[in-house]
Amino acid sequence: MYCEYKRQMSPGKRPLLPSPLMTSLPLLIFVVLAAAGMLTVYWFFSPPESSLAAAVAPEEGGGLSAPIYKAVPEKPVTQRLAQSPGPLRIGIIVGHRNSDSGAVCEDGLTELQVNSDIAQQVQAQLLARGIYTELLDEFDPRLNNYYGTALISIHADSCVYYNDLATGFKIAGSSFTDSSALSICVEEAYQRTTGMIYHANTITPHMTDYHAFRKIARGVPAIIIETGFMNLDRKMLTTDSYIPAAGITDGVLCFLRRP
Ligand SMILES: [Zn+2]
Repeated sequence: MYCEYKRQMSPGKRPLLPSPLMTSLPLLIFVVLAAAGMLTVYWFFSPPESSLAAAVAPEEGGGLSAPIYKAVPEKPVTQRLAQSPGPLRIGIIVGHRNSDSGAVCEDGLTELQVNSDIAQQVQAQLLARGIYTELLDEFDPRLNNYYGTALISIHADSCVYYNDLATGFKIAGSSFTDSSALSICVEEAYQRTTGMIYHANTITPHMTDYHAFRKIARGVPAIIIETGFMNLDRKMLTTDSYIPAAGITDGVLCFLRRP
């Protein structure tokens, strides 16, 4: 009985784990650690897109990667726009057209007639060079958000004789878009072609705050030119109108040729 008891009790005093399990325990630990390691490596090298910035950011200088990644979609668009501005398009406002006659001379000559004559010749000369050019009314609905390479409004000064200084031309540029290149080109070409003086001291707010400047799209250079005084410059503006027209055309071509 005793011996049997001892024999029956002795299995209960053996180690808790059976020996086969004890021998395979290191293998199990190895497998678990290896699996964990592989999962870690997998997670580290294939992060989801949303956590890309977070994974890169903690590294030294890692902040550099995220801005470059974000800037990529924007940069090519800007460059494409700058490199291909589209076809040339010149807008010419025929001063007072479909609005009123403008200045009127005693013999009935109107500023509108002078403006129309010069504007039509400029349009014809530019079209002959393959440059799309359209004539616009003084308050043309197309002026609202008008988009073109340049806009020029053609006007002429009073037919009243003030004094011998009431002669010459003048130009005012838009203050909404830098129009200095267009303004300088037309001023130099007009002065050279017509031989007229630049009559700067009679530029009025009516010119600098010209209504069309406020209506057209931002980024479109625009000027208004007073081609001369209808009294002292009458011959130049009527029988010799091809000269002022050529001066404006040359100014536009200068502007289009600039670097
Ligand atoms: Zn006018």
